[in-house]
Amino acid sequence: MTEIEDSIVAIDGFSSCGKSTLAKELAKELGYRFIDSGAMYRACTLYFLDNNIDINNVEAITTALDDIDIEFQNIDGYNATFLNGENVTSEIRSLRVANQVSEVAAIKVVRQKMVKLQNAMGAQKRIVMDGRDIGSVVFPNAEHKFFITAEVEVRVKRRHNELTTKGKTVTMEEVRKNLEHRDHIDSTRKESPLTKTPSHILIDNSYLTRAEQLMVALKHIKAKSKI
Ligand code: C5P
Repeated sequence: MTEIEDSIVAIDGFSSCGKSTLAKELAKELGYRFIDSGAMYRACTLYFLDNNIDINNVEAITTALDDIDIEFQNIDGYNATFLNGENVTSEIRSLRVANQVSEVAAIKVVRQKMVKLQNAMGAQKRIVMDGRDIGSVVFPNAEHKFFITAEVEVRVKRRHNELTTKGKTVTMEEVRKNLEHRDHIDSTRKESPLTKTPSHILIDNSYLTRAEQLMVALKHIKAKSKI
């Protein structure tokens, strides 16, 4: 385990570029809690889809948000997402959710609620959170910030692999369309768009193994640490 002072590690970047993989591994190495903020937006999206909430109706969304409870639990070593007490870890990865999530994540009231929950999770520090606005909006004063990227082709292959390994039937073309669609909305939306701030360290992991990516990030963290 790597010892550093209590801090927040923010990891931002495009869709399917390995943010969560790095975040999980860093959390393990540092003995910190890992939070996948994308899972929170996905869980909200699932709730709106299942309850036929019109995402263009701000009033309906605002009311529905009061009925949404999201939490994470460690089950057999993996981080499970619970929506109103139900384990939705697998369901939130479906293309049905992926195809709507960026529209939902662009809604101001949705972001306000999620950011509030995320801020509370980081109140004691010792957390690694990945997402799109973690270093820019959720924790602008995070001690460590990384911006992860990878070539589109590499990302499409990785996500396709991940989904088919889990038994989901999906074509490369569907995955590519979804990634490009989400990247476009996430980077151009009015509310907290995906941005690399000057304090983010850029890591392009197109040709890095998981172990190499972890080493690069840890090297930066240790270099900044006061311990
Ligand atoms: O990280 P993941 O790909 O699971 O996130 C799903 C979607 O949630 C993203 O495409 C983005 O629209 C949204 N999101 C966000 N802000 C975050 C995390 C995710 O807008 N901090």
